[in-house]
Amino acid sequence: MPGLRKYRVFLHDVRIELDRIERLTASGSSRGCLPGCADCCSPITVLPVEAYAVVTHAESEGWGRIGGTPNSDACAFLSEEHVCAIYQARPFLCRTRGYPILHLNGDGEWERDACKKRGFVPDAGEPVGLSLETWNARLFRLNEEFCAKRGISPGRIRLRDLLPSQNAAMSPTCR
Ligand code: SF4
Repeated sequence: MPGLRKYRVFLHDVRIELDRIERLTASGSSRGCLPGCADCCSPITVLPVEAYAVVTHAESEGWGRIGGTPNSDACAFLSEEHVCAIYQARPFLCRTRGYPILHLNGDGEWERDACKKRGFVPDAGEPVGLSLETWNARLFRLNEEFCAKRGISPGRIRLRDLLPSQNAAMSPTCR
């Protein structure tokens, strides 16, 4: 994928971190989302660099096979069988779904959210999880660089607007 080297390195590093978190927190049966579960697949927005990755993937697969349901309350790329049509190119947020996520509560203490269906083992000591702020900051910076090189707005894009039927998929603004 030309122009996506840093994004691919980013996703590779995310994968390594999620594997580490899984090793530290997962019970034996909790690898991956449960088949057919799409609880997290609501409509989302993505950064242009992520949109470019989705469009590049969909073009290589043939948009006809990607399909989509832009008028659904669920994500436009979720099939009726609850399968992600762009799984290999799914955005950062989708890759983190279901994993333990660390965030600061109103009292400035760390809290952890995790998918109840996946059986992550509760923390015994220091909470283990993905700090979304840290990874979002890195994604933000590489998206800024990606967009600056192309002279495009770095603002977020609705994922469903990438569908050909929503006419933005082939737009040069995604490239
Ligand atoms: S892109 Fe795929 S994983 Fe992400 S919300 Fe849509 S269907 Fe779910």
